[in-house]
Amino acid sequence: MDDDKEKKSLDFIRAIIEEDLGSGKYGGRVATRFPPEPNGYLHIGHAKSICLNFGAAEEYGGTCNLRFDDTNPAKEDTEYVESIIKDVRWLGFDWDDRLYHASDYFQPLYDYAVELIMKRKAYVDSLSADEIREYRGTLSEPGTESPYRERPVEENLDLFERMKNGEFEEGAHVLRAKIDMSSGNINMRDPVMYRILREPHYRTGGAWRIYPLYDYAHCISDSIEGITHSLCTLEFEDHRPLYDWFLDELGIYHPRQIEFSRLNLNYTVMSKRRILELVQKGYVNGWDDPRMPTISGLRRRGYTPDSIRNFCSRIGVTKQESVIDVSLLEHSVRDDLNKKARRVMGVLNPLKVVITNYPEGYTEEMDAVNNPEDEGMGKRKVPFSGELYIERDDFMEDPPRKFYRLSPGVEVRLRYAYFIKCTDVVKDEKGQITELHCTYDPETRGGDAPDGRKVRATIHWVSAKHAVTAEVRLYDRLFTDPEPGSGGGDYKDCLNPHSLVVLNDCRLEPGLAGAEPGVNYQFERLGYFTPDYIDSKKGSPVFNRTVTLKDTWVREKGKQD
Ligand code: ATP
Ligand code: MG
Repeated sequence: MDDDKEKKSLDFIRAIIEEDLGSGKYGGRVATRFPPEPNGYLHIGHAKSICLNFGAAEEYGGTCNLRFDDTNPAKEDTEYVESIIKDVRWLGFDWDDRLYHASDYFQPLYDYAVELIMKRKAYVDSLSADEIREYRGTLSEPGTESPYRERPVEENLDLFERMKNGEFEEGAHVLRAKIDMSSGNINMRDPVMYRILREPHYRTGGAWRIYPLYDYAHCISDSIEGITHSLCTLEFEDHRPLYDWFLDELGIYHPRQIEFSRLNLNYTVMSKRRILELVQKGYVNGWDDPRMPTISGLRRRGYTPDSIRNFCSRIGVTKQESVIDVSLLEHSVRDDLNKKARRVMGVLNPLKVVITNYPEGYTEEMDAVNNPEDEGMGKRKVPFSGELYIERDDFMEDPPRKFYRLSPGVEVRLRYAYFIKCTDVVKDEKGQITELHCTYDPETRGGDAPDGRKVRATIHWVSAKHAVTAEVRLYDRLFTDPEPGSGGGDYKDCLNPHSLVVLNDCRLEPGLAGAEPGVNYQFERLGYFTPDYIDSKKGSPVFNRTVTLKDTWVREKGKQD
């Protein structure tokens, strides 16, 4: 597609960055950050944020930090940290030595909280969580001030320190910002800044018994790191006044928060909670199940970093809420693999073909093109013999009018080999076709018939005695409904029972016996495939289908590409 090459007009975030660079607002600096919480694996929605944050920094000669927003020890884990690091690197981005953690800032965050207490801008509240919720009010009704709101500074300081030291049970007290219980923005009604959690933290262990909440930790982390443009998704728009309030009250360096719309894809669930449930309850085989929208799942399925980055650049960045068609993601991977993938032949549902007039025991090597899109990828030899496998679907004993592939008496071309004509159909006692007998025309080797006669189809094949047997896993969308869980039902009710089909008697050209994971292939006419990095072994390959081909060459009329 040429949309890659077209000069893109600036999205609204890049326009703001250019304006700020022009006015010298941050001294000509651009500093962004990607702030995942290590409570799950990254998914394609995160890729949008990664491409935006790292991409914009790169384009403007700035920096992008990777910051783990690890303020909730109950849900976080080093397994997630490691997977996130791997995934961002794999996407092709780099943070040099700027790998940070919100937990690096627990001490300054605490010190700033003490400062707010001393300025009478924060207080320890001893209402229960339920009471706090009740007192908060509603969208139409103002909240009610807590009876603890006017606690003396000394008492607040003492309680807060004892909260930190672990003297209280979870829920006994919280620290709240003292803002405005009647604010029209509920986020401003004395939001909680700290809560007591007795769970050990994966990095700081038992050193802290209180943990800051996102809204408080995030703006200060941004400030400490000297972020210029703090890019986040739209649901934080209503939190921006709070982001600004903390930084202004503390009088510290103030980045600018800008919100953009998150990526939604149809036929896909993107909520971390749902993705976690699919994994934990075994609806899929782990975080990197190739049907998952996780980066690790997409990688295992055969998606390339370029295909994901191109997808993110195609969807762009706006403030408009929308649902992107998952076929656009599939288009991006096809487009990329079309340029990169080696063409090979593989038969998924084999049907034996015996060429009755071929010299007994003879083998020859046919020249095959590795990628018609890229001559530099060269050619290879594919062995041919008198016993072959073709795709069961490519034969019909009693074909309808528009079926141009093999049928009794009909001639087709074998890709890179010969014209063959079916003379006999062999069946077992149940009437199942077990074998075809064909004749070949030795004059048609590697191309066309010297007498100019045409065939209407070209089909793929493998030589029976040379082929390697493989397992091939065909994936389809994980959900049958474009909006899983819409209409009130459980999103799991529309799990697609056919999202994984395993074929274990596939026959592939012999060069694929040692195929390495991480390499993409096009099985001609069938789609793009890649070896499974866990289950594929030398000599007994297991392939994942990345995506089907949109266009096939089934119906080309008498010409090879
Ligand atoms: P939660 O915070 O509920 O755990 P999250 O999806 O926000 O879930 P984070 O780890 O906080 O997960 O996300 C890190 C960054 O990725 C955030 O800046 C977030 O805005 C961004 N992000 C998450 N989901 C999407 C999405 N679907 N589209 C674009 N950006 C996203
Ligand atoms: Mg988040």
